[in-house]
Amino acid sequence: MTDQLYLNDTYLFESDARIVEYKKDERDMSYILLNQTIFYPQGGGQPCDHGKIICGDFEYAVRDVKQIGDEIRHYIEPFKNLMQNPSENSSVKCFIAKNRRLLNARYHTAGHLLGNIVKELHPNLKAQKCHAFPGEAYIEFCGDEVPNEQLLSEKLQNAIEKNSPTKIFETDRRQFESIYYKLPYEIPESKKFRVMQIGNYPPIPCGGTHIKSTGEIGEMTLKKMKQKNGLLKISFGVV
Ligand SMILES: [Zn+2]
Repeated sequence: MTDQLYLNDTYLFESDARIVEYKKDERDMSYILLNQTIFYPQGGGQPCDHGKIICGDFEYAVRDVKQIGDEIRHYIEPFKNLMQNPSENSSVKCFIAKNRRLLNARYHTAGHLLGNIVKELHPNLKAQKCHAFPGEAYIEFCGDEVPNEQLLSEKLQNAIEKNSPTKIFETDRRQFESIYYKLPYEIPESKKFRVMQIGNYPPIPCGGTHIKSTGEIGEMTLKKMKQKNGLLKISFGVV
């Protein structure tokens, strides 16, 4: 199992690693598995990191990272049409695109904040999906209520100006539910899971990348609110 360095440090943009395996998938696309990685695989409504992996004299571009089962697949493409199959056990240097990582983490954290504030204003609205891809981000809630757009904007602005810290910690179901709220889905009692919390808002289980504090979100705008058949979709952007 790959050690997921991105879970511990959003701001780690380069690292050493070792190639555990070089493989091809069912589409004949080449990918490598590493002993540890800074590359976030697409998931949880957040896009994957891009970057490069340097192995000896060869540089491989990484534009797709997927988690399939236990595998974190770094799909590699050769630069300048040169491709030498990387050898297993080789030491490599990994670099991720810093601006893309930070923009994704800002969008993702902004999604959490929006979810927290909507929940605070309208406890009956249940967030069911967060898609935080830059330029097309939205959260979908179940419920008939529609927040007041101006009030919601002001609350978001105040929370960003307050610069509340984000916190990551591990817990288990029993501990989490005894302190916070009943989880809306099953997690085995013995399983430890990662939780993210903004300031004093209720925490939420999450495996994404987050910025240190709400101030780093910068400028956040509400783009559109649409209520249809008991589903509320709020689109947002981060500048
Ligand atoms: Zn998250």
